[in-house]
Amino acid sequence: MLTKSKLAITLSKLKTFENPDLQSEQYATDSESAALILWNAFMNGDVEGKAIADFGAGTGILGIGCLLLGAKSVYFVERDREALAVAEQNLAAVKEKINGNYELMLRDVRNAEVKADVIIQNPPFGTKTAHADREFLLQAFEAAPVVYSFHKTATALFVERLAAARGFSVTNRYGLSLPLKQQHSFHKRKIHRVEVSCFRMERT
Ligand code: SAH
Repeated sequence: MLTKSKLAITLSKLKTFENPDLQSEQYATDSESAALILWNAFMNGDVEGKAIADFGAGTGILGIGCLLLGAKSVYFVERDREALAVAEQNLAAVKEKINGNYELMLRDVRNAEVKADVIIQNPPFGTKTAHADREFLLQAFEAAPVVYSFHKTATALFVERLAAARGFSVTNRYGLSLPLKQQHSFHKRKIHRVEVSCFRMERT
């Protein structure tokens, strides 16, 4: 039986972005935060046996965690070819530990055209491209009845309002302090933490 700490260890061994693209806000979720959210999702009954889509999958940590926890299938939707190639290597590294199906989809989430039981996403926070977070949310609400989505805690009201306007309500909120590693020269401190919340939303 997989435990939360074993999950965190496996996830910590995955490769991350080689040349992160700042404009696309390519920040990988750290393995501790990913394990915490995925474990909660698993306990909420949202992972085992479910068809899941990981929007803006990057190097795949969230979707791979779902497969490790018994998801039936995972779609990895990502527009960056290099990131998806790393996700593919990461999947190869855990193939002995997973049974579910998966598909790597090189495309923009706005053209995702997938339906799933659950969406999990750590999208761009919209700091570089205005409304990127909004587009991910709107797409997720179309694609599944249950959505887990990471946002800056300061934008909670925006998330709640948009969810309500689309017939969703926030059922759970998990507060995180996400480390953003120094990946770009203008970052002054080595590790900068950002207050983020993962929202679980359900169609009402
Ligand atoms: N889910 C990963 C990556 C988070 S970074 C993790 O948790 O580690 C956000 C990712 O979204 C980046 O890889 C970026 O390339 C991707 N992205 C940004 N806009 C996108 C879009 N419109 N369509 C698809 N992917 C997008």
